[in-house]
Amino acid sequence: MERLQRAREHAAQAGIDALLVTPGADLRYLTGYAAKPLERLTCLVLPTEGDPVLVAPALEVAAAEASGISCDIAAWNETDDPFALVRSLLGDVRRVALDDEMWASRVLALRDALPTTEQVLAGPVLTELRMRKDAAEVAALRDAGAAIDRVHRRMGEWLRPERTEREVGHDIALALVEEGHESVDFVIVGSGPNGASPHHEVSDRVIEAGDPVVVDIGGTTPAGYCSDSTRNYLVGGVPPEGYTEAYDVLLTAQEAQRAHAGPGVTAESVDRVGRQIIADAGYGDLFIHRTGHGIGVQTHEEPYIVEGNQRVLEPGMAFSIEPGIYRPGAWGARIEDIAVVTDDGLEVLNSTERRLVALPA
Ligand code: ZN
Ligand code: ZN
Ligand code: ZN
Repeated sequence: MERLQRAREHAAQAGIDALLVTPGADLRYLTGYAAKPLERLTCLVLPTEGDPVLVAPALEVAAAEASGISCDIAAWNETDDPFALVRSLLGDVRRVALDDEMWASRVLALRDALPTTEQVLAGPVLTELRMRKDAAEVAALRDAGAAIDRVHRRMGEWLRPERTEREVGHDIALALVEEGHESVDFVIVGSGPNGASPHHEVSDRVIEAGDPVVVDIGGTTPAGYCSDSTRNYLVGGVPPEGYTEAYDVLLTAQEAQRAHAGPGVTAESVDRVGRQIIADAGYGDLFIHRTGHGIGVQTHEEPYIVEGNQRVLEPGMAFSIEPGIYRPGAWGARIEDIAVVTDDGLEVLNSTERRLVALPA
């Protein structure tokens, strides 16, 4: 209820009369209800004056109640018009804010149901809340970090030459669940030249001795918080020409970024500190993405650690620090930790080996 109250206060300050939130990360964040995005409308109606109500299909009411949702539920039956129900709950409103990921079909149906009401995005309001994690959320992210670290520590069980990325990825996905995640969000096993594509997932490529392998993995825990960590492995053999030198630069850059990040510095300055080191060593063109992204109930959220983001970091903000160097057609490397800003510094939530990990072939 506290989050609903804070959301309502921020919305009122923004001149919004009501927030409308359909299934997704915002709904789960606000109410704890991880509703499935189904064709039947579920929508939290959160007026700035008046009580919140969850509009839900009658057949979903039991699931909503089981989630422990604390507001009233207005159920609709199969032949009712749920958008008319939303309209009747809202009354006369001038401006409503819609969650950023609401389906276009709903946005347009709401426009038809409320033709004189202005629609704006709820993102600016909800981002301000979601970006600042409270102690319970930090604890949940810590658990997620520990769970993904346990998976990385077991990498030698699966990552070997003569196996395909897909086979290794399948084993990793099972381990994500074994080690405490409820769902697997992504598994990237980028071996050899595939490591040069930051968002490569898996392929049928057979891993060879001497391949550097970028393993970037993440899932969501039962508490609803995400993990995300990248480590680099070498399965026997000798790494390719130039790789080790670049890796040392990357490690230095990531370390400098961790040392720099904390309360009172801007998001973009964290990016710059690492980018400068990588550029000075001659790899500037090969660091082809921002340094990081916020993380919480979604893997990618505010604050983004990128040039141009002058937001000043505050205690409770959680984000990745993940510089990379990618030599197209040859290899890639990325080192990624999740970190939370504290009152006087930074708590890094991942603690596995950041240097290149040599696994037996
Ligand atoms: Zn990414
Ligand atoms: Zn990642
Ligand atoms: Zn990431």
